[in-house]
Amino acid sequence: MIKTTTTSKFSRLFYIFPLFVMLLAVSNPSYAESKQVTPDVSVIDARMTENEAFNGLNPKCPEELRKKQKIVQVKYYSYDNRIHEGQVVVDGELEEDIKTVFKQALNEHFVIYSVIPISDKHFRKNNSWDDDLSMEANNTSAFNYRMITGSTTRLSKHAQGRAIDINPFQNPYIKGDTVLPTGSTYDPMVAGTLTADSPIVKTFLRLGWDWGGNWTSYKDYQHFEKPRSNATKK
Ligand SMILES: [Zn+2]
Repeated sequence: MIKTTTTSKFSRLFYIFPLFVMLLAVSNPSYAESKQVTPDVSVIDARMTENEAFNGLNPKCPEELRKKQKIVQVKYYSYDNRIHEGQVVVDGELEEDIKTVFKQALNEHFVIYSVIPISDKHFRKNNSWDDDLSMEANNTSAFNYRMITGSTTRLSKHAQGRAIDINPFQNPYIKGDTVLPTGSTYDPMVAGTLTADSPIVKTFLRLGWDWGGNWTSYKDYQHFEKPRSNATKK
């Protein structure tokens, strides 16, 4: 059906304008450059306040556990080869460990896609924090009051803020035929993938953390957790 002349005039303009902008950008490099951000300024992936970082937390989370959590500011190279700034929410006891590992990742240029607390609106399902959405977005995160993957009764170390998942898409959870996040594969040749030889993995192990890539019944390459000291370990 042919539309009325007024509408078609507008719709023609609607199609032509972006084309004009594209041509301008191609023909005039300074226009394209002006759209870029200064290279020595970090990209901000997360800069949440305390309220924002815990907004939407599972109401079953004991206040005592919640109070132990701390927001740690971190810097890292992402896949755009630029330094990004993000935030990890962890048990305050582990702040120095997290800073050590991220400093090492930055020094060796190990790429991390994004580090955004799971309370972000992009990781909400029915207004609750959703680990699947965070994994699918290849986001690195730690504290989340939730059960372990595949269980409805056992609390995860993430619930205590004593576990972190790094680059889930390059470092999937693999149990039999189940691979999470959906569509991911484990290929040590791909940047951002963790192996037993990765300096980051070695540092975590030296600091007393366990790595899911060393587990035998299933693999959780993205996952690191730190048990409490033997005296208090259940
Ligand atoms: Zn995990």
